[in-house]
Amino acid sequence: MTGSAPATITCSDPRDGSLTAVIDVSSPAEVMAAVSDARKVAPAWAEAAPEDRAAYLLRVRDRILDRAEALIDTICAATGKQPAEAATTELMAVCETIGYYAEFAERWLRDQPVHPGTLWHKRAWKRYEALGVVGVISPWNYPFTLSMTPVVTALAAGNTVVLKPSDVTATVGESVRELFEDSSWPGLVGVVQGGAETGEALVRSDVDKIAFTGSARTGRRVMAAAAERLTPVLLELGGKDPMIVCADADLDRATRGAVWGSMQNSGQTCMSVERVYVDASIHDEFVDRVVALVERIRQDDSGRGDIGAMTFPPQVEVIERHVTDAVSKGAQVLTGGTTLDRPGLWYAPTVLVDVDHTMEVMREETFGPVLPIMRTASIDEAVELANDSRYGLNSSVWSADEAHAAEIAGRIEAGNVCINDCIVSYAITGLPFGGVKESGVGRVHGPEGLREFTSVKSIMATRARPPREPWWFPVPARLADLAVRTMRLRFASTWRRRLGR
Ligand code: NAD
Repeated sequence: MTGSAPATITCSDPRDGSLTAVIDVSSPAEVMAAVSDARKVAPAWAEAAPEDRAAYLLRVRDRILDRAEALIDTICAATGKQPAEAATTELMAVCETIGYYAEFAERWLRDQPVHPGTLWHKRAWKRYEALGVVGVISPWNYPFTLSMTPVVTALAAGNTVVLKPSDVTATVGESVRELFEDSSWPGLVGVVQGGAETGEALVRSDVDKIAFTGSARTGRRVMAAAAERLTPVLLELGGKDPMIVCADADLDRATRGAVWGSMQNSGQTCMSVERVYVDASIHDEFVDRVVALVERIRQDDSGRGDIGAMTFPPQVEVIERHVTDAVSKGAQVLTGGTTLDRPGLWYAPTVLVDVDHTMEVMREETFGPVLPIMRTASIDEAVELANDSRYGLNSSVWSADEAHAAEIAGRIEAGNVCINDCIVSYAITGLPFGGVKESGVGRVHGPEGLREFTSVKSIMATRARPPREPWWFPVPARLADLAVRTMRLRFASTWRRRLGR
């Protein structure tokens, strides 16, 4: 913790650089107080009936619907994205997640019976218990969805929450705070504001779990800091998502998908299409079509365009560095490749060819409207290149033969694969989402995502209670014989054959 952290966050609109808000940074003492307040409410919330928790979450969803236009305005002013992007990928995604857990949390948290194995006279079951207080740390690229998703899921599992939203989009954090100002259950969600220092204070507090979404670099620091108290972590980190286009792919759909998947939200999506491997037989036509589509993208601040501004000034520097590095190593820029000469943060949609894996643009997360396309001689080569990455978040395979695409999906090192589509697997809330390799640890969404915020308690009971168990003292002389006979009966293959199993 340094004493030099700023006392306020100055928020500006990346579309034109204008000032939007000044927000106080929470001190470490305020972070501790927020955790302690959340802990006071935690036992009652954990004991509340799942139906009551569901009813509360549905009231939060009603508030989102009531305030939809204002929330969209706040998100667009904080990020520079288009209203259509904010409405669909932020508000709708969150409403969907709330509906899913309001409907299914009770089922996924129900006690689960477990077969007792050789202990025929026992009964065993798993119980999912709330952890207590969950600390949520979120990034700036989807400031509403990526704050609300872990918050709502942790609440559905019976926890209370302290959220630290990104300081880049702190105004959206304030909107989240207002959504939970509810007299029926005060104090379920606390919001603390600030950057790395505030996040670190939350990680080092006595929260029972940290749910972090952000870069792999910060994720590593969060995991190391959490290790000091052995606080468990859920890490949703970066990606370098590959798109494999087979020779038999529907070219019209694949090119439109590549352009949308790489450019939507100005490429600032953890599962953007970040690199494309196209079969050599269709490469040239694929590239021509992609360039034509990219040149038609409407990039403006009218509120009716396809993409808006970039959100975070240092990200524009990363994009410029990747493009310069690629060009210096032989890549060709077919369109774009520059920032726009206007106020605010704007980078032109860019297509690169003649790229290879010596270039940063094929190895590091670019996180901007840049689509590098590489020619491949075979599926084996495409899969090998796709897997030549330290990341493994999402990925996509495009082919007319779905069975072949599913076989390729099995060979890709990633937490998620889309066939003939990209990104939107995240929108199916029943599907667990998360990464392998440096893309993360753990899952959001689905039953797995809910149970991330629980501790599983294993319980065993004796059905008919005999006065003693056969292995209790004094150990019977025949116990060894009995154990061997039991093992033969249960495990020996000759016996299984005789029993026809
Ligand atoms: P970031 O890692 O810089 O910051 C994320 C959050 O961590 C912010 O709230 C930040 O203030 C906080 N933070 C920074 N240093 C910290 C520290 N030492 N301890 C605790 N908290 C700290 O990420 P970003 O730039 O805000 O977001 C972009 C990154 O997030 C990209 O890499 C993107 O791929 C990733 N991301 C991943 C997913 C996913 O679901 N896997 C989703 C969206 C974004």
